[in-house]
Amino acid sequence: MKVQTIMADLERKHPGESEYLQAVQEVLESIEEVYNLHPEFEKAKIVERMVEPDRIFTFRVTWVDDKGEIQTNLGYRIQFNSAIGPYKGGIRFHKAVNPSMLKFLGFEQTFKNALTTLPMGGAKGGSDFDPVGKSDAEIMRFCQAFMWELWNNIGPDTDVPAGDVGVGGREIGYMYGMYKKLAREYNTGVLTGKGMTWGGSLIRPEATGFGALYFVEHMLAKAGKSIKGATVAISGFGNVAWGAATKATELGAKVVAISGPDGVVYNPEGMNKEKLDYMLALRASNRNIVAPFAEKFADATFIPGKKAWSIKCDIALPCAFQNELNGDDAAELVANGTWCAAEVSNMGCTPEAIATFQGAGILFAPGKAVNAGGVATSGLEMTQNAMHISWSAAEVDSKLHYIMESIHAACVKYGTQEDGYINYVKGANIAGFMKVAQAMLEQGIV
Ligand code: GLU
Repeated sequence: MKVQTIMADLERKHPGESEYLQAVQEVLESIEEVYNLHPEFEKAKIVERMVEPDRIFTFRVTWVDDKGEIQTNLGYRIQFNSAIGPYKGGIRFHKAVNPSMLKFLGFEQTFKNALTTLPMGGAKGGSDFDPVGKSDAEIMRFCQAFMWELWNNIGPDTDVPAGDVGVGGREIGYMYGMYKKLAREYNTGVLTGKGMTWGGSLIRPEATGFGALYFVEHMLAKAGKSIKGATVAISGFGNVAWGAATKATELGAKVVAISGPDGVVYNPEGMNKEKLDYMLALRASNRNIVAPFAEKFADATFIPGKKAWSIKCDIALPCAFQNELNGDDAAELVANGTWCAAEVSNMGCTPEAIATFQGAGILFAPGKAVNAGGVATSGLEMTQNAMHISWSAAEVDSKLHYIMESIHAACVKYGTQEDGYINYVKGANIAGFMKVAQAMLEQGIV
């Protein structure tokens, strides 16, 4: 396999799909060496088959807004790879959603899900529907219209969507309600991230952020460091950022920044219960601005137009969107003394940022390892649904701990370089790839 040849072919077939091409390139560069040691992979054209989704559904979603006007959006579901289990992955509602974004996310999801130790394939879906400023009734009508098209192509053993940016418990509720009506079956396992009274799993809302911090703890322990007393900058203020901020605080770190599209909140005293609760209220307000946090808490300051990476910190945790931390941001962080960066968002760092962190020899781990606790706990939700039982929070949390520890160990196994530096990007990509590739090989040409 030659990365350049495959990339040239993909660029010709999918011109302009920059996020998708970026995600594929990163994985191929990581696995090239190992792949070429396995002629059976080459013979079965594993890479050529793995980089293309199995299928893409594109559909029109028409709904009526509060003024009675008819609105039309585009909906998608990308079923990427089902070698190791049913398609599994979130749904993103964001105005910038397009096939390139969802293909990158579906591709990443395939490897991430393989890392979780659970049997889940990779998928992603979403819409260019912009939830910002929409009323609750509009959100409900949109979710119902979206599910009206999607319901027939998903199922507990076929494809199991969940939340992502712009899709939380409320949206999953509205989508499940419509699914149940159309399918005429109480198939709880068809979606994850459900409410606690109707098949949801305890710890799922916290899982992405908590799991990320468990991973960071392992990464720091391996490097002989501790999170206690460290300063942490977090981007975003949604569910994932909240989970990360909550666990970081519990572990004795000081969360000195959270951010939104409007700017960054500098929070030198760190978080407390009231502030963490307020983060959730702020997200639920649907206005997508973080400034009110600094109006409510006198020790915090809002700096308009700035990113979280302008705040001096030991640990940087991108928790918002892809490519939200670029090469210049990484250089600023390194210059300010940051010694660890972990992507909690999917592909939160640009390739230049990753190269800067790795070049400076600081600890860096990629989203598909760090944030896998979210989808892993979705997998645990599917298991509980299939067994028609609910585990206690302690039971789910202990399984999540074990999964994050396993992911960390897999990264170390495949990513430790001769000089001792652990390349977590390489480690995660190779570990995920080997599992999916082996399954594809054994299942023949399909
Ligand atoms: N959207 C999340 C992710 O990127 C969760 C997916 C899921 O739970 O299926 O992994």
